[in-house]
Amino acid sequence: MRTRVAIGLGSNVGRRLARIEAARCDLAALLEDVRCSAVYESEPMYREAQPPFLNACCVGRTSLGARPLLEALQALERRAGRRRGGPRFGPRTLDLDLLLCGDLVIEEPDLRVPHPAMSERPFVLWPLAEIAGDWIHPVTGLTIERMAAALPRGKLRRHAASRERSRQ
Ligand code: AMP
Repeated sequence: MRTRVAIGLGSNVGRRLARIEAARCDLAALLEDVRCSAVYESEPMYREAQPPFLNACCVGRTSLGARPLLEALQALERRAGRRRGGPRFGPRTLDLDLLLCGDLVIEEPDLRVPHPAMSERPFVLWPLAEIAGDWIHPVTGLTIERMAAALPRGKLRRHAASRERSRQ
């Protein structure tokens, strides 16, 4: 059985757009029926003294369970040069978060689904609403579109290169 999953992408170190685009290709190989949002630029949350992020979201289907999928995402992070052990919420070459996994709710120390912080992050909810607005968040019971609408966009904006590409 294939489950619909949503992944959040982020990068704020080095060639951010190239990393996000490479990660989108990797996810297209890992998952089936992949759809990706535009790329957005966001101001860092939680730890403000660091460069701005590029963010995007992808949805797809997979027969992998949540834990093997998280391990596959972590392998992609490592391949992009991500090193563990930096400051919490600090700069990162690539961050891949498992946001949603069908209507599963998982509460384990190292695996929480839905991703617990997604509800407070405009850089997750707005891109996700673009490609999966009708997905009902299994904890809040609200659609992603409603959750996004309840959260001010702040300084989140579409990245210029992403805008050009979506016109082609
Ligand atoms: P981060 O620094 O944000 O990439 O956090 C990575 C840590 O969060 C890892 O130790 C993961 O095991 C843990 N984690 C728990 N739930 C999730 C999730 N849904 N997606 C990604 N990482 C998760």
